[in-house]
Amino acid sequence: MDEHRERLDKRLTPIHLFKLTPGTSCGECGLPTCLAFATQVIVGQADIDACPHLDREATEPFRVRLVEQQRAGIGVKREGFEKALSFLRREAAGCDFRQLAASLGARYAEIEGTPALRLVYLGKSLVATPFDVYWEEGEGISPWEKILVYNYLIGGAVRPSGRWIGMESLPNSVSKVKSLKAHCEGRLARCFSGKMDLLADAASRIGAHRVMEQGEPNLAVEIQVLPRLAVRLLVWDEEPSEQFEARVKFLFDSRVLETLDLESLLFCCEQITERLSSFVGEHEHSHCHS
Ligand code: SF4
Repeated sequence: MDEHRERLDKRLTPIHLFKLTPGTSCGECGLPTCLAFATQVIVGQADIDACPHLDREATEPFRVRLVEQQRAGIGVKREGFEKALSFLRREAAGCDFRQLAASLGARYAEIEGTPALRLVYLGKSLVATPFDVYWEEGEGISPWEKILVYNYLIGGAVRPSGRWIGMESLPNSVSKVKSLKAHCEGRLARCFSGKMDLLADAASRIGAHRVMEQGEPNLAVEIQVLPRLAVRLLVWDEEPSEQFEARVKFLFDSRVLETLDLESLLFCCEQITERLSSFVGEHEHSHCHS
């Protein structure tokens, strides 16, 4: 079965979420029925937290899968992405690609008379033109990845300060910090607990290199997301004898928001989490979501 078909067959539908609601259609979420609520959440038009009657613990695995699904663009109303992309394409058309190339760490090229930038995103080469963003080789770039690259290109990269901080130290980040913990840091900790060698190997495969960090983590790596944008990942492994569970922390340069917005930054961390988790064996993969 092809990969795309397999993903579609596994996708979450409104019925999956409907089964988690009490089915009382009380209207407190602002929608007339529980099924209407479930449908709006799946297509990305309503927030799952709008229903106060959902059991947070029981719905957590659903939430994680829903975020992954929406990031991949499955089920989400295309208009949202398309609107954002056509706005960004217009903005990109007004940029001088040749001049921007050096500051973004990209290479300028002209492809069939169209200005283009070649750059590396999480170890993979891609091409950005005012009309589209695509991989140098292969297919399957998601709309979110295109939006991320255009944001990077239009916003322009700033020189990092060299001072590393947690997301909680960035302004207006409270809700994003929660998502980062639930979907990235917590997931990686569960996935790689007791498997530091595997994590180090997975990180090196996406182009990360080891760094020195305070706090004596078992592993500290720097991951190059885009040419002028790196994040750090610190990992403390489990210590069963001391009842200490594995812990993971993402760090960002203190000037990162001058290059990318918080939403894009969270997306980068989710992509890193996805890539790293994909190196865990099939039979162990369920730990990553539990
Ligand atoms: S608030 Fe929850 S229970 Fe009430 S209608 Fe909305 S989804 Fe159903």
